[in-house]
Amino acid sequence: MVSSSQNPSAQGLSGRKIVYDEDGKPCRSCNTLLDFQLATGKIGSTSSKNAGPKNDKTEVYAKVDPPDVETLGNSSWTLLHAITASYPKQPNDTQKGEMKQFMTIFSHVYPCWWCAKDFENFMRNNAPKVESREELGRWMCAAHNDVNKKLGKPIFDCNLWEKRWVDGWDQK
Ligand SMILES: Cc1cc2nc3c(=O)[nH]c(=O)nc-3n(C[C@H](O)[C@H](O)[C@H](O)COP(=O)(O)OP(=O)(O)OC[C@H]3O[C@@H](n4cnc5c(N)ncnc54)[C@H](O)[C@@H]3O)c2cc1C
Repeated sequence: MVSSSQNPSAQGLSGRKIVYDEDGKPCRSCNTLLDFQLATGKIGSTSSKNAGPKNDKTEVYAKVDPPDVETLGNSSWTLLHAITASYPKQPNDTQKGEMKQFMTIFSHVYPCWWCAKDFENFMRNNAPKVESREELGRWMCAAHNDVNKKLGKPIFDCNLWEKRWVDGWDQK
């Protein structure tokens, strides 16, 4: 179980506390890239947002680093809402069971452990609603809003979730 902070008072350039894994190393998927670089000594505390290490080498593939908490979160929400968008309007019992299992397993394996703990807690108090696509879509929207609220981000209007994730904004 991962839980500890090596230096609980250490603050990153983002203004958030640096999150550490239980082995004492900074958690890559729990911090912003800038904070992770600060905690691992790759940049100094006076660095600006664009001052990360540069690598201009042209390779066959782009040198993309592992995801930080924001890239991981954005990609994960895209996956979760897209899965919801393709969920049947009238799922059978197998599909309902699989969706519940998926959400439980997702909450156990999500790489940002402190995000996962809160998400698990949300699921404990709000079991996934899997009776229909509409129901699941609204539940997922509420789950996302729970994180938005925690992070001080705008609350999304769940009446619009289908426009955002199923139909697109041009649809009436
Ligand atoms: C399960 C989970 C838990 C997380 N917990 C944390 C955490 O504890 N701490 C932390 O720092 N980060 C956490 N994150 C990441 C965080 O939620 C964001 O993904 C991240 O900050 C990047 O935000 P963003 O501005 O790119 O937009 P995101 O929040 O990633 O949203 C992507 C897009 O989804 C749409 N959207 C926004 N809200 C809703 C909604 N309610 N319903 C439907 N669509 C919506 C918008 O179009 C938005 O542009 C978590 C991510 C996940 C998947």
